Amino acid sequence: VLTVKNAKKSFGENHVLNDISFEVGKGEVIAIIGPSGSGKSTLLRCCTILEHLDGGLIQYSGDVLCKDGKYGDKEQMQNIRKKFGLVFQNFNLFPHFSVLRNVTEAPIRVAGMDRQKAEAHGRELLHKMGLSEKENAYPCELSGGQQQRVAIARAMALDPDILFFDEPTSALDPELTGEILKVMRELAEEHMTMVVVTHEMGFARDVADRVIFMDKGYIVEQGDPKVVIDHPENERTRLFLQRFA
Ligand code: ATP
Ligand code: MG
Repeated sequence: VLTVKNAKKSFGENHVLNDISFEVGKGEVIAIIGPSGSGKSTLLRCCTILEHLDGGLIQYSGDVLCKDGKYGDKEQMQNIRKKFGLVFQNFNLFPHFSVLRNVTEAPIRVAGMDRQKAEAHGRELLHKMGLSEKENAYPCELSGGQQQRVAIARAMALDPDILFFDEPTSALDPELTGEILKVMRELAEEHMTMVVVTHEMGFARDVADRVIFMDKGYIVEQGDPKVVIDHPENERTRLFLQRFA
C-alpha cells in the first residue's frame, strides 16, 4: 500500500500541493483528474521521488520514504524508486537507443541484471505490447502509439509494484489513444497497480477503482468513479466535468 498523508509542496510562493492525502492499495487503479496547473504532475513526481515534498508523509509497504519533508538516504530512496515505474506524456525514450535497448538499459545499468536475461525479459515485454517486430527500430521510426508502448514496456522492465502514468495519451491521435488505453485496460485486468493522470473520462469511469479530482493543489473530491464522474457532489468537480460532456 502507498500512503500519502498531508503532502505539501510549494515552488516559491506557488503552493502547488496543499494537504494531499490518499492511498493506493495493491491491485488498485486510481485515476487523477483535474484542470491544468492543479498539481497532478507534481503529485506523481513527488510520489516517484523525482521531486521532494516540503511536508507530509509518504509511506510504501511499511517503508517511510518521507516524513515532514525529510527523506532517507540515497540508497534507500533508490531501492524504493525501483518499485515504481513512470510513463510520461511525451514518451521520453532514449532517441539514440534501439527499442530493445530502451527497455533493457535500466535493468542492466540500474539493477545490474545480466544482458541476456534483461534482453529475454525485454523481448517478452515488447511481445506483450505487440512490438516484437520493432526491437531493432529507433524511436524516430515509430508512431506515437508505438513509442508510448515502448515507454510502457520500459517502465515495466524492473517489475515495478506500481505504474504511474502522466497523461499517457494526450500527445496522441484518437486512434492511437485507443491502442494505449487498450494496453492499460489489459494491465488493469492483470491487477497491475496503477495511478493514472488522465483526461480520458471513459477510461477513468470504466477502469479506475477510484477517481481523485484535484483543483488548485487540493483534492476536492475522491471516490467511486460512478459517483465522482457521473454524480459529483462538488460544484468545482461538476464545472470541470462539463468540458467532457
Ligand atoms: P497539466 O494538466 O497542465 O499537466 P498539472 O495539474 O500537471 O497541469 P503541474 O505540472 O503539477 O500541474 O503544475 C502545478 C503548478 O506547479 C503550476 O502552477 C506550475 O507552474 C508549477 N510548477 C510545476 N513544476 C514546477 C517547477 N519545477 N518549478 C516551478 N514551478 C513548477
Ligand atoms: Mg501535468
